[in-house]
Amino acid sequence: MRTLGIIGGMSWESTATYYRLLNEGARERLGGLHSAPLLLHSVNFAQVAAMQKAGEWEAAGALLAEVAQGLERAGAGALLLATNTMHKVAASIQSAVRIPLLHIGDAVGGQLQARGVTKAALLGTRFTMREPFYRERLAERFGVQVLLPDDGEMDEIDRIIFAELCRGEIRPESRAFYLGCLAKLQGAGAEAAILGCTEIGLLVTADATSLPLVDSTEAHVQAGLEWLLGHGIA
Ligand code: GLU
Repeated sequence: MRTLGIIGGMSWESTATYYRLLNEGARERLGGLHSAPLLLHSVNFAQVAAMQKAGEWEAAGALLAEVAQGLERAGAGALLLATNTMHKVAASIQSAVRIPLLHIGDAVGGQLQARGVTKAALLGTRFTMREPFYRERLAERFGVQVLLPDDGEMDEIDRIIFAELCRGEIRPESRAFYLGCLAKLQGAGAEAAILGCTEIGLLVTADATSLPLVDSTEAHVQAGLEWLLGHGIA
């Protein structure tokens, strides 16, 4: 039996969505009592968020690499790192294990490419929006150019992620703020929007905007399901 490992807890609010969507996907595809064979290591997000804030990326990479090794030893055949931001240290994690880390950027990029999107709005943490690791992968591998909110908007988007969404708070005024940012980026030429933080799907859903959405959580779950099904889930 193939088992998919999840490095989760960043935050657990979105890891819960991964767990539900992976199991719903297995049931949809296989029917009956089928569910997804999973191993989940859910970290303490306070520790990881403190490392992000302090710029201790090497230490954070080492911590998550150790988690990945534990999942590999426990029998995982592939890994999902259930956060966009921590893909900043994806290379450290991948180099610590022999099993594949199914990269969230490739899952998102693949969906954008399949829809013929070449310009996409990107919402995520300040790290995902401002630093090159995410947008360069989309540009280099999938020919997608990313459009970003302005500086003040990026600060507010990031604040809402850490102060609200990762704590399970869903506020209508924050939803309105995100939708306002998306409308501006649509006006600036975005053909689609990337929900590039695994909690944003809790706040913004496809029915609320005319901009086609690629939710990183959903795209990543699809990649996980394809791996499971491609390797014989049962
Ligand atoms: N889950 C978020 C993401 O997808 C933010 C939490 C984190 O900083 O890892 O980026």
